[in-house]
Amino acid sequence: PSNKQHKYRIASIPADGIGPEVVSAAIEVVQKLSEVSKTFEIEFTHIPWGTAYYKEHGRYVDENVLDVLRSYDATLFGSVGAPDVPDHISLWGLLLAIRGPLQLYANVRPVRTFPGTQSPLRNAKAGDIDWILVRENSEGEYSGHGGRSHRGQVWEVATEVAIFTYVGVERIMRFAFAQAQARPRKLLTVVTKSNSLRNGMVLWDEVALKVSKDYPDVKWDKMLVDAMTVRMVNNPESLDTIVGTNLHMDILSDLAAALAGSIGVAPSSNLDPTRKNPSLFEPVHGSAFDITGKGVANPVATFWSAALMLEWLGEQDAKERLMEAVENVCQAGILTKDLGGTATTKDVTKAVCDEIARLG
Ligand code: ATP
Ligand code: MG
Repeated sequence: PSNKQHKYRIASIPADGIGPEVVSAAIEVVQKLSEVSKTFEIEFTHIPWGTAYYKEHGRYVDENVLDVLRSYDATLFGSVGAPDVPDHISLWGLLLAIRGPLQLYANVRPVRTFPGTQSPLRNAKAGDIDWILVRENSEGEYSGHGGRSHRGQVWEVATEVAIFTYVGVERIMRFAFAQAQARPRKLLTVVTKSNSLRNGMVLWDEVALKVSKDYPDVKWDKMLVDAMTVRMVNNPESLDTIVGTNLHMDILSDLAAALAGSIGVAPSSNLDPTRKNPSLFEPVHGSAFDITGKGVANPVATFWSAALMLEWLGEQDAKERLMEAVENVCQAGILTKDLGGTATTKDVTKAVCDEIARLG
C-alpha cells in the first residue's frame, strides 16, 4: 500500500502502426517518474482498440466506449490507421468516435525546437519557434455533415458541410485567449479565411473581436490561413499562440511540427476544458507504417503528450521534470533518425529514464 497523495488510473490505447512502440515507451518513462515522485502513483490499463480489434469485431471500439473511458482519469493514445483500411473508416471508427462525444473541443498543440536539434529554417534562431497551436476539435470542416447523390455517375454530387456554431466558436476563442494570456508574450493570432468563406469564417472574425474585449492585455491579430503559412516560415518569432478551425489547424500543425524539426516531437492534448469528461493525449503524428516495427520511431512526441497529461492532472512538478529530462537527452545528442541522429526508440527511452532518476 502506498501513502502517496494522488493515484491516477489511465486508459492506454496504443492502437496501430508505431502507436504501440511509442506508447509503451511513454508508459515506461511515466512509471519512472512516479517511482521518484513523492506525490503520485499511476496505473495504466491497456485497451486493445484499433485495426486488429476492428478486423475481429467489425468495429474499432467497444460499444460502451464512452463509459469505459469515463471510468479513467485520462487517456493516452497512440495512433490509428492501417494500410489496408481506408483512413476515413479508421479515423472515424476510433479517434473521432471519442473526441466528439466526449466534447474534447480544445486540441492544444505546443510546438518548439528542442536544444541540440535544428529547425529546417535557415534563419531560425533558438527559441524562435515556441508556439501553442489551438485547434477547434468538435465541429467545423470535420462535422461529418454532407453526403453523396448519384453515386458513380458523372453527375455525382458530394457535399462536405463545415458547421460553425456561435457556442462552438466562442468557447474555443475564449480558451485560446486564456492560453495566450497565461503565456509571457500574451500574443494571439486568429487564423481564418474570411475573404473567400463568407459565413463561418466571418462568424470567427466577429467572435474573436467580441471575446477580445474580455482580454484587454492580450495583443491579437488576424491572418488568412494562406498568408499564415508564409508568416510561419518567414517570421516565426512573430508568433506565439495561434487559434484556428479544425481543418486549418490540422494542416498548420503538421507544418509547425516540421518547422520545429520533426513531426516526431509534436504532442497534443484533446481537452474538455469543463473537465466533465476525461481528456485524451496523443502524438500529432500518425501510424507511420514506413517505420513500424523497426524500433526507430521517435518517442518524444508521446513523452511530451504524457507530460501534458500529467500537467492536466495537476502534477506540474512531474511534467517539468519529464520535459527537463527530454531536453537534456536531446542536448546530449541522443536523437532518433528523424532528428538527424542514430538512436533507437529504446535508446532514447532508456536515456530519458536514466535522466529522470538522475534529476531525482
Ligand atoms: P496519418 O495518416 O495517420 O497521418 P501517416 O503515416 O500518413 O499517418 P504520419 O505518421 O503522420 O503520416 O507521418 C508521416 C511520416 O513522418 C511517416 O511516414 C514517418 O516517416 C515520419 N514520422 C511520423 N512520426 C514519426 C516518429 N514518431 N518518429 C519518426 N518518424 C516519424
Ligand atoms: Mg498525417
